[in-house]
Amino acid sequence: MPIKVLAPEVVSKIAAGEVVERPASVVKELIENSLDAAATQVSIEARGGGLNLIRVIDNGTGIPATEATLAFHRYATSKVSNLADLDAISSLGFRGEALPAIAAVAQVELLTRTPEELAGAYLNLKNGVVVETGKRACPQGTSVTVRHLFQNVPARLKFLKSPATESSRVSNLVSQYSLAFPEVRFSLFLDGRMALQTAGNGVLRDVLVKVHGLQTAEAMIPVGEVNSQVWGFVSPYSLARSSRGHLSFFINRRWVQSRLLSRATEDAYEGLLMTGKHPIAVLNISLPAQDIDVNVHPAKLEVKFRNEQALFTAVQRAVRSALVKEMTVPQVMRPPSVVDVPTFISQKEHLSRQEELFEGFAPRPSPGPLPILRVFGQLSATYIIAEGPDGLYLIDQHAAHERILFERVRAQQASRAVEVQGMLEPLTIEVTPRQEEMLRAGGEILDSYGFAMEPFGPRTYLLRTVPALLREGNIAQAVIEILDSLGEEGESGKREERIALSLACHSAVRAGQVLSPEEMHQLVRELEQAESPHTCPHGRPTIIRFTSSQLEREFGRSL
Ligand code: ADP
Ligand code: MG
Repeated sequence: MPIKVLAPEVVSKIAAGEVVERPASVVKELIENSLDAAATQVSIEARGGGLNLIRVIDNGTGIPATEATLAFHRYATSKVSNLADLDAISSLGFRGEALPAIAAVAQVELLTRTPEELAGAYLNLKNGVVVETGKRACPQGTSVTVRHLFQNVPARLKFLKSPATESSRVSNLVSQYSLAFPEVRFSLFLDGRMALQTAGNGVLRDVLVKVHGLQTAEAMIPVGEVNSQVWGFVSPYSLARSSRGHLSFFINRRWVQSRLLSRATEDAYEGLLMTGKHPIAVLNISLPAQDIDVNVHPAKLEVKFRNEQALFTAVQRAVRSALVKEMTVPQVMRPPSVVDVPTFISQKEHLSRQEELFEGFAPRPSPGPLPILRVFGQLSATYIIAEGPDGLYLIDQHAAHERILFERVRAQQASRAVEVQGMLEPLTIEVTPRQEEMLRAGGEILDSYGFAMEPFGPRTYLLRTVPALLREGNIAQAVIEILDSLGEEGESGKREERIALSLACHSAVRAGQVLSPEEMHQLVRELEQAESPHTCPHGRPTIIRFTSSQLEREFGRSL
């Protein structure tokens, strides 16, 4: 279809809003244009977090020279032409808004050639106005260069994060699109460094290796048959992350953010993940174009579904059955009830049952210090049983240890007295492009907690020292979690807290670990000295009490 300006009645149906919020949104629009133009190779370059330069080059269909200027008109598009088209959108773009919106806030150069034309069309625009046109030799396809983004909109600049954070958003975005289009070869260069390159061979697992690293990619469990309604990969429950940032959903190959889909996926893990843990998932979902409305969000990041319940169930089932299949392997430690019971209790129901159970027993995070306790045993290798001035106390060994370590990490870090231990053998850690950006930007924070990491090959690092309190356990996972938490939004205080939290969580004794009497004593003594001994840093109780009068009542000694 040639590029045409949309009729006003079509324009009025388009979800208006800010298309270009930050550098990553420019990259998104340009990549979508390349994919709509059937490109098989897309190369993306960003400098200075995208504020100095963004360049996207593709080998797609190109724009006919006669239409190049028109492409920068508002609501000029070759992808839809009438109202009926809006009801069944099959292209990624459809509003004809992106190029003019980008040109309005930056300096833009376009070089493009269709296979029929001998010379490429060149356009140079400043503040949305064409200042130069011409013909130039160029390969088939399109190259768009965006310079000095937002320089004429200081208000926008103010809302941006540091160049490193903006770069990490760009790399996350390119990672998402390369997962959605494994048959396209993506290359990403950030400040001249190659941050990501996919093979473009159509194999999703190969892209997973590039984005999540070999170890994670190998562990991922396939969901559904390739190209079935719901298909892709999810992490086994043993491989969880502390943020939801690793859930990728593509509806008809469009990258979308959807609470519904996140909930459906996480629901499938019900009972398998610790609180605060989230799976990694890459799921492709196909729906008839009429069953979704992609025209509801200015950046097309969210979509509306005609039948939410059916979709929720389809995703939840597909993921659940993949997980269950995986769990039939004998000898895997798992909570058995979850696998055998066909109906799942919702998280809410679970919590309310728990509250019922604890009613009257829970200490209700009571302020003040703990009484002196006499330890006399361990229950289910998970709880420490102790006697106190008024009754029986049960201490959750993991939660209690987490509290102790959390306070210790915070204190050591605040007084810059972090105890560090060297690794006998340096540990190799693979990171995603996004994590690598965070590492480049926030390496000193990691350092201040006792992690010394040095670059070692593409997206691979050597870990030489770790905080002394970190147990052997899964050190790599702790590092990955901390990197992820650096990328999360929030003020720096919160970030520090999250780091201390993952450190404490990874270092604390686990439930199911048998403790010697000395270890139990030590733990209880340290808990008594903690500042906030009653809850773990996630807010769960560390200790519950059965008062003497409750015991008397239960045994019918008093009424
Ligand atoms: P939309 O993608 O919503 O149509 P854009 O402003 O992003 O609007 O692009 C306007 C038009 O320019 C597109 O409809 C398409 O015809 C053309 N175009 C933009 N980028 C490319 C590209 N990389 N390859 C081929 N054509 C392109
Ligand atoms: Mg577009």
